[in-house]
Amino acid sequence: MDGGGAMHRTGGCRCGAIRYTLSAAPVATRLCWCRDCQYWATGNAAVNIIVPRAAVAVEGTPRAWESLADSGHHMRRAFCGDCGTQLFSEALENTESMVIRVGTLDDASAVVPDVVIWTDSAPAWAHIDPAMTAWPRQPA
Ligand SMILES: [Zn+2]
Ligand SMILES: [Zn+2]
Repeated sequence: MDGGGAMHRTGGCRCGAIRYTLSAAPVATRLCWCRDCQYWATGNAAVNIIVPRAAVAVEGTPRAWESLADSGHHMRRAFCGDCGTQLFSEALENTESMVIRVGTLDDASAVVPDVVIWTDSAPAWAHIDPAMTAWPRQPA
């Protein structure tokens, strides 16, 4: 992880139609086993960073889909209409922060999750790292 100071990360979808720049450190880095993430992470947990919305600059126009999540939040999930990569999600109830799907970062391996959430929805075969802080559902 970066030791602080100016943070500047870039990322985008697989085909390159959507690009973004992140200019703040993540507020949290989580592995998420919610049922929704299993759809978009093709059966596995998703790795997500929570970031200030104001720190994300997007080039290109993602498509979006809105649904009611298990957390009770109305989520708007943005993806590339060309290649289908899931990029961002935002709770309409939270105007301060948003989620970036870590696999879309140019340097995805630089982000290490330390919290795992929605372990109640994980399949029986899932390995939950005992070193991580775990939440059975949405963190308080
Ligand atoms: Zn794309
Ligand atoms: Zn999730």
